[in-house]
Amino acid sequence: MKIKFLGGAGESNRSCFLLETDQARILIDCGINKEADTEFYQYPLDLKEIAADIDAVFLTHCHIDHCGAIPYLIEHGFQGLIYTSSPTKCLVPSFWLEWENTLKKELSHSITEYDKKVEWVELPMNSHSTWHDLPHLNLSFQYGRAGHTLGSLWFMFSAVNRTVFFSGDYQVASPQLTFDYPQAECVDVAVMDGAYGRRLRDPFLFVKLGMDALTTGRKLGIITQPHGKGLSMLVELEKKSVFAGRDIYLSPAYKEAMSQYLNEGEWWKKEVQNVGELLWKRHVSQWEDTPIIAATEKEFVEMKRMYDAQLTRRILFLPFYPVHPFYEETLSVVEHLQPSLTCVVHANRKISRSLVRQMERDNQRAIAPVAGDQVEVVSKQVNNNYK
Ligand SMILES: [Zn+2]
Ligand SMILES: [Zn+2]
Repeated sequence: MKIKFLGGAGESNRSCFLLETDQARILIDCGINKEADTEFYQYPLDLKEIAADIDAVFLTHCHIDHCGAIPYLIEHGFQGLIYTSSPTKCLVPSFWLEWENTLKKELSHSITEYDKKVEWVELPMNSHSTWHDLPHLNLSFQYGRAGHTLGSLWFMFSAVNRTVFFSGDYQVASPQLTFDYPQAECVDVAVMDGAYGRRLRDPFLFVKLGMDALTTGRKLGIITQPHGKGLSMLVELEKKSVFAGRDIYLSPAYKEAMSQYLNEGEWWKKEVQNVGELLWKRHVSQWEDTPIIAATEKEFVEMKRMYDAQLTRRILFLPFYPVHPFYEETLSVVEHLQPSLTCVVHANRKISRSLVRQMERDNQRAIAPVAGDQVEVVSKQVNNNYK
């Protein structure tokens, strides 16, 4: 069994890992690098050449750095199944559309055509954290909620006496979303989201900033994408009583995301299940009269253009909100799984290496692969000769 890092290693974009056995070739995620300007760096390595030979894609979540290259994969001959959660399946086409807009040219097919060209397998949440067999590939897999965004999953695969865990983007300590600890067995290699490196959890500064903005009469702006960060920030601020019963402007994208969240209660932690409903009751469709604005960056640009060029000056934008693991979360999952080797991904080389050094200090064997590297998985013992 081999893992090849086609993207998303030593870099925070275009996540794509090829897991290969004698009988199966599967991809875990197939994302793009939105910032890159050449096709070589936009898409995972070798994708065009291997597309037709891929048996299946296991998609962790909807974000474009994880799903954006699926249309490209289909164009180059992929005909397998895509395994993911129902919310992710539902959200993916809008992220493909975002990629098409970024490219500033139309994809060869319409987004709905891509959607129809692949067969989706929606994984039910009532059977997470147990093994499922895929006899035709001689492979078993587990999945569970990853706490990063609505529908986000981690995956674990087992074949030929080897077991590999892929965290996807995750967060154990999300105040809103549930994380399921995997059924820990004999894990050989864990491929872990290291986006924040060895940072430790900081107190939620944004709660204080939110309070300040509202008490000094400024508008409070949550200007980011709703899935993951945006809705989590809204829920957290409501939970901490920062909004104090005020009306909240939800842009069309936020309204859509919020109504979807309300229908997917099983992803929320119990203590915040009623918070979404409280928010929903107070949302308004006019932003001018309310101090709280939630919109995507694109919608915000449009609001400024159409109605108020000065809007940016009257608004306080909420800063960083965590949706990836801090070091204590990384360590808790790794100690739970006890892999022989941890591969740190989803961060640039500097951050990945600092995380590796910290893990080594805590007696974990870890490496920071880069795109193009390959790891041979050996049962409870991994060759050092990865290259
Ligand atoms: Zn993500
Ligand atoms: Zn990501």
